[in-house]
Amino acid sequence: MSSPSENAGGNRGKKVRVSFRPNRSTKRRDTDWTRKVRDSGDQELDADRSESVAAKGDLSRRRTIIEFGQGNALDPGLCLGTVIAVRGLFADVDDGEQIWSCTVRRVLRTRTIKDRHPVTVGDHVRFRVESNEKGIERQGVIEAVEPRHGELKRRVRNRIHTIVANVDQAIVVSSASQPHPKPHLIDRYLVAAGVGEIAPVICMNKIDLDEDGMAREILAQYALLGYNTVCTSAATGEGVNELRDILRDKENVFAGQSGVGKSSLLNVIQPGLTLKVGTIVDHTDKGRHTTTTASLIRLEMGGYVVDTPGVKSFDLSAVGRHEIEAHFIEFLDHIPHCKFPDCGHTHETGCAVKGAVERGDIRIERYDSYIRLFEESAS
Ligand code: GDP
Ligand code: ZN
Repeated sequence: MSSPSENAGGNRGKKVRVSFRPNRSTKRRDTDWTRKVRDSGDQELDADRSESVAAKGDLSRRRTIIEFGQGNALDPGLCLGTVIAVRGLFADVDDGEQIWSCTVRRVLRTRTIKDRHPVTVGDHVRFRVESNEKGIERQGVIEAVEPRHGELKRRVRNRIHTIVANVDQAIVVSSASQPHPKPHLIDRYLVAAGVGEIAPVICMNKIDLDEDGMAREILAQYALLGYNTVCTSAATGEGVNELRDILRDKENVFAGQSGVGKSSLLNVIQPGLTLKVGTIVDHTDKGRHTTTTASLIRLEMGGYVVDTPGVKSFDLSAVGRHEIEAHFIEFLDHIPHCKFPDCGHTHETGCAVKGAVERGDIRIERYDSYIRLFEESAS
């Protein structure tokens, strides 16, 4: 049987192993930790591997974390928690009841040398309690990071950073009026959420102002495509319970243009929440926020809301143009029938997507949205 640390290097490239070995040979505690994993059985060993955090893009593939199998196999004494904030080398970890100030084990730090920080807000981690005395800050050491899903990323110069991990849902908020719904903006957010593997829910707020029924009609079109939708009014309370049920026990991010009522909705859901949360707004609406690190805010009913002060968190500039089509869900049945396998559905002959637009099977607004995103995006 090979040791977990050898497995951890895998076939995934030298860099990872080089940074891991020197550390392993010098740290006594790492050896102990390795043995504990070995003692815990083959099943966990097989699950123990190094893995790229993100599924998409060459840039993100470079970053690694250590992941461990399910359950508490690593060490029954370790506690499970969620990173809710990162401050320098410390991470605040919420175990569901209280917050622990944790450092990160060196073995994790050296492996992720290319990343800004080996743990990110939203990471599910296992940590060892270091001090839990009354009157002293609760302290721990993060020993392992679980595999990530749903990530919000940001491009800083030529690198992509994960700013929040394990986001389950993006609540894409629009408003019936003031401002009027902008379907193209909704489409942008849907693509961004899709690229990050975050499930979107489209929320049409200020439904009390939907006098001509246009907003409901727009929402109904998205529902027809298969998206989850909800109509709300922070003013009258309509749909708020439904929204609450959608948010409960999930890690949620709110996205939407300024003025659509994101803060008002949060405040109705949980008074005081709005004071803390700076939500994601369209990248054209700059300058509203000053800080750049994200954090998680706990919902009393269970779950979290992501506080992402960075206005560019849903930036699509790093998305390859051929990635976009996959997030226009009504295109998917048609794409295999395009004449050219690399069809961009713009000018090509024999394009099945354009054919579907002409027949009215794909709405022209959605197709136009696609073209705009295709033309804007990286090649
Ligand atoms: P945010 O920028 O998305 O956070 O939007 P705000 O929560 O600050 O709301 C912008 C404005 O819209 C405020 O004046 C709110 O009072 C108003 N507003 C928010 N939700 C509703 C709603 O459901 N109905 C109506 N009529 N007004 C709303
Ligand atoms: Zn095509």
